[in-house]
Amino acid sequence: MIFSEEHESLCFNLNFSSPFNFTCQRCCACCYNRHIELNNYEIFRLTKYLRLSPQEFLNQFTDSGLRPSLKNKDNGACIFLGPSGCSIHPARPLVCRLFPLGLLFGPRGEERWGIMPLHPDCTGLISSEGTLADYLQSQGAIPYLRFARLASCRHP
Ligand code: SF4
Ligand code: SF4
Repeated sequence: MIFSEEHESLCFNLNFSSPFNFTCQRCCACCYNRHIELNNYEIFRLTKYLRLSPQEFLNQFTDSGLRPSLKNKDNGACIFLGPSGCSIHPARPLVCRLFPLGLLFGPRGEERWGIMPLHPDCTGLISSEGTLADYLQSQGAIPYLRFARLASCRHP
């Protein structure tokens, strides 16, 4: 995601040392009506987890576009939302790992971190226990971030 006026109005002023933690209550309200685009690394992790070829995965679970995006069911739920929550949790995309954090890349790859608006029904708790870096580690976001950084350099 790159900087935009809309994002300028949000407060994107966190860094890796900023106090931050988020406790999700797993209500799944934020797994509806999303548009989650996938990069090649996310597709790789999902195909490995689901034991599918890239083509099988793309055909079954994504809508095509500039970039493939996860399908939603008729009721708006993410294609991977099951009765017990996210059915691909260990391989979930970066945006699901970061939420409610948002990451913007500037024209030279500079990063800005902030907190996105929560879903109106979200009961998750933001606190200052730990740092943003700790949170990223706890969500398994580090390899996903490496790829996102590379991709932002390739497509400034
Ligand atoms: S991939 Fe999982 S966590 Fe992300 S929106 Fe879908 S069900 Fe929710
Ligand atoms: S709406 Fe909030 S509490 Fe519910 S699953 Fe999403 S982040 Fe967690």
